[in-house]
Amino acid sequence: MLLIHCPHCGTRPELEFSYGGEAHIARPADPSQVSDDDWASYLYLRSNTKGVHAERWRHVRGCGRFFNALRDTTTDRILVTYKAGEKPPGEAR
Ligand SMILES: [Zn+2]
Repeated sequence: MLLIHCPHCGTRPELEFSYGGEAHIARPADPSQVSDDDWASYLYLRSNTKGVHAERWRHVRGCGRFFNALRDTTTDRILVTYKAGEKPPGEAR
């Protein structure tokens, strides 16, 4: 069983979590000023990274909070988790 570390609760079994898609996707500040193509890109286009990928996860059967994780998509191993709103560990602040 895969164990995932919630930054709020600690390490728990994967059954308590839900995948939330790619992390750090910024919503346009004023959607009415964005072209249809840019809006469609915001809604649907994702990077589909091979290797280390920043993802959102939610601890649905625990605290209910969202957090981010860096996961290696080639090994399915989660390298680190961090709170939503924080930059990935190791990235310049
Ligand atoms: Zn939690």
